[in-house]
Amino acid sequence: MKALAVDLGATNIRVALGDKDGNILKKITEKININNGSKGIANQMIGLINSLRVNYNEVKGIGIGSLGPLDIKRGMILIAPNLPFNNIPIRDPIEKAFKVPIHFLNDCSAAVLGEKMFGLGDGIDNLAYITISSGIGCGAYVNGTLITGKDGNAAEMGHTCIDLSGTLECGCGRKGHWEAYCSGNNIPNYVKFWIKNNDAQADFERSKLGKLSNRNFENVNAKMVYDAAKEGDEICLKIVEKLGLLNAIGIANVIAAYDPELITIGGSVTLNNTRLVLEPIKRFIKDLSVNRIPEIKATPLGHDIVLYGALAMNFMK
Ligand SMILES: [Zn+2]
Repeated sequence: MKALAVDLGATNIRVALGDKDGNILKKITEKININNGSKGIANQMIGLINSLRVNYNEVKGIGIGSLGPLDIKRGMILIAPNLPFNNIPIRDPIEKAFKVPIHFLNDCSAAVLGEKMFGLGDGIDNLAYITISSGIGCGAYVNGTLITGKDGNAAEMGHTCIDLSGTLECGCGRKGHWEAYCSGNNIPNYVKFWIKNNDAQADFERSKLGKLSNRNFENVNAKMVYDAAKEGDEICLKIVEKLGLLNAIGIANVIAAYDPELITIGGSVTLNNTRLVLEPIKRFIKDLSVNRIPEIKATPLGHDIVLYGALAMNFMK
């Protein structure tokens, strides 16, 4: 039996046809078109699904993993931080177009199901997935059940507070959130903050990071920070260590909330810098978690984990 999977991300829509063993048979990616308003997103998705030319008699359903926050009861995206409109209808127009069962979840909830079915989660009933990407998100599978919450936004651990003094502002507008410090989009803010706090302007200008960014904070991005750390840049090694501590605080909160046996971590910041991200987390977590420490690993499903999760949704009971 086959099924369709949709990954609706911040910039791209990815659609795939796959089977219950996790084989992706066809796949297409397109940049989100924002020119046709909020309803244009579902229409673009319908066009992409049609372009795969599948036989709908062979398709069990369509799983959609979406950026959020969502309202899963109404099948909508409530807030899309990277798009110029909110309240985007998804489930109903897709259901109307294809008349097959539709499954609609936020991207990290989808991802944890992908890990459960096609990744490291085989036989594991308590599992959390964390993405450290442009944002930070979490999906939790507890006692053999996906945790969704009233609107589908349970386990939004990226928006939990890791800094009570709440210095840095998050994309959601609140202060002190994990995502405000450690996500790909916000690491540059943290770098600026760290250099100011440590009175390290002169060191920054002399550093590899200073060179890469033309000594201008506005040019700093997460990739530069990790690239310079890999080359032994002293400032970036210190910053990466501190980001590891902050990530470990966030992960300690995940462990306290869900008591998982296994945490897998993905997202571009992790996947591109696996050792520099995971090693400090594993070191610091020992002093931060009260619960028995779970196994912490990079996901083997890589950048496709949400797509695998959207596929998995069709086959889970
Ligand atoms: Zn936030």
